[in-house]
Amino acid sequence: MKSFRCTICGELFLGSKLPSHCPFCGVKAKYILNSEEVNGAEIFMIKNISDESRKSLIVALNKETSNASFYKCASDNGEKEEIRILFNRLAKIEREHANIIGKFLDLDAVEFTDQECSHYDSKNLEQALESTKEIVKFYKKASIEAREVKISNLFKALGEVEESCYKMLSSFGSPEIKKDEHAFVPPLYFRVRGK
Ligand SMILES: [Zn+2]
Repeated sequence: MKSFRCTICGELFLGSKLPSHCPFCGVKAKYILNSEEVNGAEIFMIKNISDESRKSLIVALNKETSNASFYKCASDNGEKEEIRILFNRLAKIEREHANIIGKFLDLDAVEFTDQECSHYDSKNLEQALESTKEIVKFYKKASIEAREVKISNLFKALGEVEESCYKMLSSFGSPEIKKDEHAFVPPLYFRVRGK
């Protein structure tokens, strides 16, 4: 067993090898390091966030919390089991993202308000694709605009996750589901408590 730390969400976890994505926030392997290489206490530490970046973080937080709640609803209302699983996974990822952003904003807790969704999977998939496309665009722009390296990196990493989510969602919309697109959820890794 080795121990790893995600440099974006800060989670520590054990595994026999480096996963392809963070099992918690979904970022690519390039953001994951052996735990001894990262000082966990410094991940969310940042001096003087500019007003512009703070604004972008708040917009990102609103998008992630509303997506998380929408996915939760779409999972609860899911007609097919695979759709319930898909939206449940996406809800968890978006929750993680919202919590990361909350840490940069120094929030004690992130609030999730209920969102409405359809009783039809097809409608929910359509809306999910639309909002994911929008958030990908937002993160690209926000990452370029952010002057703080950490914030720019955060937006870039989260934007990449949203792009994978977009791919995953669009594969459900097409008649032929490409199985490897769903290999997004890595095998079993264990969250290490009390970091
Ligand atoms: Zn992570």
